[in-house]
Amino acid sequence: MGKIIRLDRHTTNLIAAGEVIERAASVVKELVENSIDAAASIINISLLESGLKEIIVSDNGTGMDATDARLALEPHATSKIAKPNDLFNISTLGFRGEALASIVAVSHFKLKTCVTGEKGLMIVLKGGEIISEAVVAHPHGTEITVRNLFYNTPARLQNLKSEAQELSYIVDYVNKMALANPQLAFKLYNNEKLLVQTYGSNDLLEVIASIYGMDIAKNMVKIDRNDGYYHIYGYTSNIVTTRSSRNSITIIVNGRVVRNNNIINAVVAGYHNLLMTGRYPLSVINIKVDTSLVDVNVHPAKLEVRFSNEEGLINLIKEAIKTALVEVDLTVSLDKSENESPYHNDIFVREEVKPYTFTAKTPDLEDLGEDQKEENPNDEIEVLKETFTQQQYSFTKHDETPSERLETKSSRLPRLEYIGQLFGTYLLAQSEDLFYLIDQHAANERINYEKIVLHLQNSNTKHYELLVPIKLFFTTNEAIVINEKMAEIEKLGIKLEEFGGGTYLVREIPDWIFRGLEKEFVEEIVLNIVNQRKSEKYQFLDSLAKSLACKKSIKANEFVNKQEVEYLLQELSNCENPFTCPHGRPVIVKVSRYEIEKWFKRIV
Ligand code: ADP
Ligand code: MG
Repeated sequence: MGKIIRLDRHTTNLIAAGEVIERAASVVKELVENSIDAAASIINISLLESGLKEIIVSDNGTGMDATDARLALEPHATSKIAKPNDLFNISTLGFRGEALASIVAVSHFKLKTCVTGEKGLMIVLKGGEIISEAVVAHPHGTEITVRNLFYNTPARLQNLKSEAQELSYIVDYVNKMALANPQLAFKLYNNEKLLVQTYGSNDLLEVIASIYGMDIAKNMVKIDRNDGYYHIYGYTSNIVTTRSSRNSITIIVNGRVVRNNNIINAVVAGYHNLLMTGRYPLSVINIKVDTSLVDVNVHPAKLEVRFSNEEGLINLIKEAIKTALVEVDLTVSLDKSENESPYHNDIFVREEVKPYTFTAKTPDLEDLGEDQKEENPNDEIEVLKETFTQQQYSFTKHDETPSERLETKSSRLPRLEYIGQLFGTYLLAQSEDLFYLIDQHAANERINYEKIVLHLQNSNTKHYELLVPIKLFFTTNEAIVINEKMAEIEKLGIKLEEFGGGTYLVREIPDWIFRGLEKEFVEEIVLNIVNQRKSEKYQFLDSLAKSLACKKSIKANEFVNKQEVEYLLQELSNCENPFTCPHGRPVIVKVSRYEIEKWFKRIV
C-alpha cells in the first residue's frame, strides 16, 4: 500500500503559517498591507501586550461582501492576481493569498467587514475552525482581531522575544509603512498608549517629523532624480544627523518597503567621506519604476525584490544623493531655535507626536522574516571601488589651472571675514549675519587630505633624488614585507635601498611631499603599505591620504598669523567638501546673528 497521503487543509495552513507568520509583527505587516491594498486612507492598529495578547487592525477600505469574506480566509484565495502573467506586473502589496489563512490557523481570529450599501458580516474562528458567523452593523471597511497568537504552536510561542523587543519590531515596521505611505493616516497604540501617529497629508517631510522628530526633519535634504526608467525621490539627512545603524535608511519601491544592501550601500556611497566611519545617514528613498521591471515574487516574508538594470539604479541613487548634498550648505548650525528663526522655513505647524524610543535593540526589518543575513563583503568592496573612481574624477577637475578653477567651481562657503583666534584652536569669522567657528586643525586636515589624494592618484608624479639619503629603521618582519612590496612602494615615487639589519636608505621621493616632512611621510607611506590588508585594496590610497593629512596639519594650540589664516580660509573654500575633516568631524559651525541676539534678549 502507498505511504503518501494528501495533507488536510489545516495542516497545510500551519505549514504556510510557519513561513509567513513568525511573530506579532508579521501579523501586523500582513493586515496593514491588506488594508493598503483595499484602498484605505485611515489605518488604526491597537495592540495589547505588544500584540502577544491581541492585535486589532481596522481600516476604512473597500471592505468585503459575505462571499469574499468567507473566501478570503481560505488558502490561495486572492483578489489581486488571476493568472500567471499577472505575477510579472504586481501593483499590490499582497498577491499570494495565503496571509489570512495562515494567521487564522495559529490564532483566535475575528473578522468584521462591510462594503458600502450592504450589511456587515462578522466571522469568528479558532485555530482555523469557524465558531460563529453573524450579520452586524459595521462602517464600511474591515476590522480584524487576532488574539492569542501561536496558542496552538508552542515552539513558535516560545521563540518570541521579550515584549519590548516584539513591540520594537512592530513600531519599526509601522514607521516604515507610514514613511512609504504619507497619503495614509496611521495610528498605532499599545495598551492604549499612542506610539505612532501620522496624518495622511501626503507630505513625506511631515511624516519624517512625526516619526523621527522635528530636529531631524529640519536637517533633511530633498532628493529627486529621474532617468526615464527609475524615478528616485525622498529625503536624506545632511551631515548633522547621522545614525549608528543602517536601519534608518528606508528603501521603498513602488510603495513597498524593501531591503537591499546594494541600494543601502549606494546611499552611503553618495555621501563619500562626509560621514564618520560607522555612521549612517537617515534616509527615506522612494524608487518608482514600471511594475514589469521589478520582481517582487521572491520570498513571502523576506523584503527582497529584484530589479532589472540594478547597476543603473545604483548609479542613479548615488548621483541623486551626491547632487542633493552639493546643493545645500552643510555647515553645522548651532542655532537652538532654528524653526522660529527667519533663516529657516517653517515646515510644520501640527502638534508633534513624541517619537517612541526603545531600550531594546532596534530591529532590522529583515528580522520580521528570518535572521539577518551576513552582509556580503563584496558589496562593500564595490562601493569602495566606486568611491575611488569618484576621486579620480575629481582629480581631473582639480588639475585645471587656478583661474579656470575659479570659473568652473563655485565655492561652497561664503566669503569669511577673519575676526580672531580662540583657545589657540578655533578661528572666528563672520559673513553677513552669521558667525562662524572653524576648527583650524580639522580645516587644515581637509585641505591637505584633498591635495594628497590628488597627488597619490596621479600616476605620473615627478620624483627627485635626495642629496643626503634618509635613514629609516624597520623590524625584521616589516623588512620582509617591504622587500616583497618594493614595486608598490616605487610606484608611489619612493626608492628604497636595503642597508641590512632593518635599515633602509631613502634615495628618491616624490616631489609633492612637503618640505621638512620627508622622513615622516616616507615612513608613514611605507608602514601603510606594509600593513595594508587585502580587503583595503580600493580604499588604500584614501586611508593613506587621511593619515598623511593628519601628520601635516597644524595642531590645535598653535597660533597662526592673519595672513596664514586668510590663506587657510581661501584654501578651505576651494575644497570639494569644506564641511568635514576626512574622518567626518565638522570643520565649521555657525550661529546666526538672530540666535545671538536672542541670547542677549534683544529679541524675544
Ligand atoms: P493577499 O493579500 O495575498 O491577496 P490575503 O490572505 O492577505 O492574501 O488576503 C486575501 C484576500 O482577502 C485579499 O486578496 C483581499 O481580497 C481580501 N482582504 C484581506 N484583507 C482585506 C481588507 N482589509 N479589506 C478588504 N479586503 C481584504
Ligand atoms: Mg495580504
